[in-house]
Amino acid sequence: MGVDEAIGDAPVDRFAASATSPQPQEPAAKVRRPDPRPASKAPPTTPPRAKRPAGPPPQANTPGPTLDGIETLAALEEAAAAFDGCPLKRTAKTTCFARGSEQAKVMLIGEAPGRDEDLQGKPFVGRAGKLLDKMLSSIGLDETSVYITNTIYWRPPGNRTPTPQEIASCAPFLTRQIELLKPEVIVLLGGAAAKSMLETSEGIMRLRGKWKLYHAKDRDIPTLATLHPAYLLRSPEAKRYAWRDLLMLKEKLSTLQ
Ligand code: URA
Repeated sequence: MGVDEAIGDAPVDRFAASATSPQPQEPAAKVRRPDPRPASKAPPTTPPRAKRPAGPPPQANTPGPTLDGIETLAALEEAAAAFDGCPLKRTAKTTCFARGSEQAKVMLIGEAPGRDEDLQGKPFVGRAGKLLDKMLSSIGLDETSVYITNTIYWRPPGNRTPTPQEIASCAPFLTRQIELLKPEVIVLLGGAAAKSMLETSEGIMRLRGKWKLYHAKDRDIPTLATLHPAYLLRSPEAKRYAWRDLLMLKEKLSTLQ
């Protein structure tokens, strides 16, 4: 019954009706390649590409920020803070860029900052973040061994799911963040991150628990989608899936050492 029936390769999504954002299966919304909208003022830097090679072409008339000349994560954070191409920045209190180690092999990408994150300017510092920290700790990881960010750097009003356009406006930054961090493994937290990074409209219950490849500029990075901790807070019965995914991550990391 219920979630027990969802075990298998193609689980039936029984969560979508009751969950609120972030949800295991939001309405399908195919997120295209980084589709940076023009900034209302000049973008922070110049060279003309900050996109990974694979995937559909960018939409027309979307030059967006060009970040190839940025060589450190600190400089990239400054550039993001100066970027005006994502309308969410107007209502957010802070730019919420990342927390964790710049030497990390594991990069986690969530959906969007919430209220606590907006206040503190760091990803996953609220209730969902506390659960995330516990999940990571259960497989021996912490802030010294992971780097955590989101698909967007500004809180959507009311914590709504970011639109594909909002995610696309920040995508060049996230792309460059991955290039600079050079993680050996990426973990996508929840449907919004999974769909945008894997360029699919499939729901998280189908995407989770499978190693896929994220095509970075110079290499393919093993990438695992899992359930969002905020969803797990609302649906603790789904923690069994997240646990399986964590064990997959642990196993993968053991092969990298
Ligand atoms: N949810 C997210 O997706 N990211 C955060 O930083 C906090 C909550």
